[in-house]
Amino acid sequence: MFVHKIIHVDMDAFYASVEQRDNPEHRGKPVVVGGTPDKRGVVAAASYEARKFGIHSAMPSSIAVQKCPHLIFLRPRFDRYNEISLQIREIFYRYTDLVEPLALDEAYLDVTENKRGLPSATIIAREIKEKIFEETGLTASAGISINKFLAKTASSIKKPNGLFAIPPDKVESFLEELPIEKFYGIGNVTAEKMRIAGIHKGADLKLWTEDDLLRRFGKAGGFFFRIVRGYDDRPVTPNRVRKSIGAEESFAEDLHDRYSMIVALEELAKILKARIESSGTSGRTLTLKVKYSDYQQVTRSRTVADSIGSIEEIMNLAIELLDMTEVDQRRVRLLGLSLSNMDSERAADDYVQLTLEFE
Ligand SMILES: [Mg+2]
Repeated sequence: MFVHKIIHVDMDAFYASVEQRDNPEHRGKPVVVGGTPDKRGVVAAASYEARKFGIHSAMPSSIAVQKCPHLIFLRPRFDRYNEISLQIREIFYRYTDLVEPLALDEAYLDVTENKRGLPSATIIAREIKEKIFEETGLTASAGISINKFLAKTASSIKKPNGLFAIPPDKVESFLEELPIEKFYGIGNVTAEKMRIAGIHKGADLKLWTEDDLLRRFGKAGGFFFRIVRGYDDRPVTPNRVRKSIGAEESFAEDLHDRYSMIVALEELAKILKARIESSGTSGRTLTLKVKYSDYQQVTRSRTVADSIGSIEEIMNLAIELLDMTEVDQRRVRLLGLSLSNMDSERAADDYVQLTLEFE
């Protein structure tokens, strides 16, 4: 039987973690993004410190502040989250082009065939988690299994900073033992209804016929019948064509001074500019890739309000990004510049969706 290898990557408390990373004064403190202490509105994301007070996303801010009077409310910065989301997506693309983003902070990856030729999806997931942490300072949780439903269920098992795999031969026993509220797609209200019907874990649910489930839970009954058996044949569908334009160069001898790096970047900027022109589109996110002499690689990105067009603009951003790396202390063997967040595929849908959640 042909078995797919699917990874679900879910960033931990993404917006709140980005704010804590960018603003050290908020680290270790109960922080929420979205809402205000005096007005209406809901929490969009809560830091793990805030969660200890029982605060969670979608909670009205008036209730959140009752639970934690010294809670810190932060305005969301979607441009920033989008920028980091794209940076993380670039890491996924090093392994597979079959990446299906679900939101700024989570995605499915099909790594059955992968660019590294790695046989183990768990090793890939671990590497991805490490790279995300190295390159963004943020933690992610990953679930690994044979389909989307199982991968998504798995990623929540060991959150935060978790890794959990459900191998094919463990699917059946895993689902039989899984408490009903842990099934992805069974919310609190449904879980309560199920418990009233005597269904506490997967094994109990499995005793029900599809007809009985349909009678008791309506249309969702068919879904419950399938998931408790681990059936899910939805493919990972890259819903956005990956488009970026880039140029990079490996140096015969490692560079060690800032001036020679700027000269090299200028050459790359010229190539990039020519590629922008011939492609007929431009983008708003510039990413600098730096590979140090020990082969460790980092990327730094900036997103600007308007399409990046001129060599000067590329260079201004590139130098700014260069100064966010450790090139003054380490030797460099490769530099790269790439442009993404293309005009032709602007992720407007992300913004619309997130804005709606806030109103
Ligand atoms: Mg998340």
